[in-house]
Amino acid sequence: MRFEPRPFIQPVPFRCLYCLDCCRGRHVYLTLRDIERIARAGHDPQDFVTFSVEGNRIRFVLAVREWDLGCVFHDPETGKCRIHEVNPIICRIYPFMVSRKPLGVEGERPFQYKGQRLWLYYDASCPGINADEPETLITPEEIAELGLEFERELERTDMEGLARLMDELER
Ligand code: SF4
Ligand code: SF4
Repeated sequence: MRFEPRPFIQPVPFRCLYCLDCCRGRHVYLTLRDIERIARAGHDPQDFVTFSVEGNRIRFVLAVREWDLGCVFHDPETGKCRIHEVNPIICRIYPFMVSRKPLGVEGERPFQYKGQRLWLYYDASCPGINADEPETLITPEEIAELGLEFERELERTDMEGLARLMDELER
């Protein structure tokens, strides 16, 4: 699916329709905290963590199935996430996005949150946005909070941290 960013500057009604689109063909970064939560829920990191080299950094990325590039935790029968209670922070942010720079989208403007200047967007290609009978109203504040948490957690995510975590998990 192609991300179609729209400025997110006021609360948006949302209900996930489990259309599967956002769990297939995506590059989902994992933080150490994500890996730990999923592992403690009973999943072996060797089955869900892959590596991506970006410049001089290694990123941890959620593994996908070979046959359709769907996430390994996506249940093809129900369309639902098998680790919903512990899913990665990126999955909790989507269909929203937090950026440190403007994307050049009409109507965008900076959002000040906890002293930080952010640009927030939602993905107009997600059918859950403005869906009939929405389950919830998502606010820019809650997404900004998740975005800052993701940034902090990604910053402390590296190979040494993963090695330490694997040791802890084996104890
Ligand atoms: S978040 Fe949107 S794209 Fe993803 S499954 Fe729900 S409705 Fe579909
Ligand atoms: S962890 Fe769950 S929500 Fe995230 S991409 Fe996989 S199936 Fe989708």
